Amino acid sequence: MDEKFLTKKANWVRDEILRVCIPNGAGHIAPSLSCVDILTALYYGNLSYRVGELQWEDRDRLIVSKAHGVYGLYPILVDLGIMPKEEWDNYYKEGSRLWGCMEQDLEYGIEAGCGSLGHGLPIAVGLAFGAKLQGKSYYTFCLLGDTEMEEGTTWEALQFAVKHSLKNLILLIDKNGLAAMDHIINIMDKDKNDLIKRLEGFGLSPIICPGHDVAKLANYMKMAKETKEDRPQVIVADTIKGYGLKCMEDMAKFHFRIPDENDLKMGKTY
Ligand SMILES: [Mg+2]
Repeated sequence: MDEKFLTKKANWVRDEILRVCIPNGAGHIAPSLSCVDILTALYYGNLSYRVGELQWEDRDRLIVSKAHGVYGLYPILVDLGIMPKEEWDNYYKEGSRLWGCMEQDLEYGIEAGCGSLGHGLPIAVGLAFGAKLQGKSYYTFCLLGDTEMEEGTTWEALQFAVKHSLKNLILLIDKNGLAAMDHIINIMDKDKNDLIKRLEGFGLSPIICPGHDVAKLANYMKMAKETKEDRPQVIVADTIKGYGLKCMEDMAKFHFRIPDENDLKMGKTY
């Protein structure tokens, strides 16, 4: 896939997040910056959809389980002509239709509301299982944060997906190593490979990808769709929370904090 095109798009999305969210006071900037490249690789390279027919029956489904990362999605929907720019410009302002976490909005192609973490994958597994039962060929993608990979519901859903050989299910895990308040290594995991080991224990072979190499992410997604393996596919994107802003990168305190003028003076990293 065209690396220059994808990189330009991802950088534009980052710029849009900062342009809209800082003045509007929308706080989840860091977890959104974390997954910009994943969403860009998906929408501009791998997700099958029709802009003029969003409810097309054979479209690929996307469930954004880490729904507070939605700031990365809205500019893409604007760019594709799915959402009016004014809607995005007014994001998080009083009276706005767009909320801090994602609500289901079929008019904008948003399949499910999430936000209480650990619920997106069960929805995605249901969609993938339904597709298999009906002999449909579409794929279901699920974007998850690494902290919600500590949730019991996630593993129960995954156990079912493995049992039923749901090869039409693709997990995209935004592994930034941070939860809302601290690094995961200080909360739940014993070492940094715990997530990978757990996935392998469920009979999966996660592909680990640099989380801000948008072209590589796009290629891995393509490979996941084309696999002959009879099991769910998992891409673990090694990301940096707050990627793109020097003040914010890998800093727990910025989970829901707006950078001030002095923070922004530190500059960008893209
Ligand atoms: Mg995280």
